[in-house]
Amino acid sequence: MIPTTINDDESGGLVVPCPISTNFRCEVQHTLTCNECKTLSVHNEFYHDLSLNFPDSMSEAAHFIEDLFENFFEDEPIDHRCEECGSTSATLSHR
Ligand SMILES: [Zn+2]
Repeated sequence: MIPTTINDDESGGLVVPCPISTNFRCEVQHTLTCNECKTLSVHNEFYHDLSLNFPDSMSEAAHFIEDLFENFFEDEPIDHRCEECGSTSATLSHR
């Protein structure tokens, strides 16, 4: 999981851990796993300048980001037709 430590020290600096520390550009690897035959289908996606409505307060923003990425990186069921067995049940995971 993503470290959730926020370094809010005397310098007033706010350090948000990777992968969102650099201009909100990141590469996410999606892995589709067939629930029937476990065939993997992997593709990469680049996110540039994610359009997010951030709260005004930095502390609120930090929590917002935590929640966002906790949800974002959770595995989720998805309808995806497997090329191997034809199953339409797969699991999408992000790394
Ligand atoms: Zn399959």
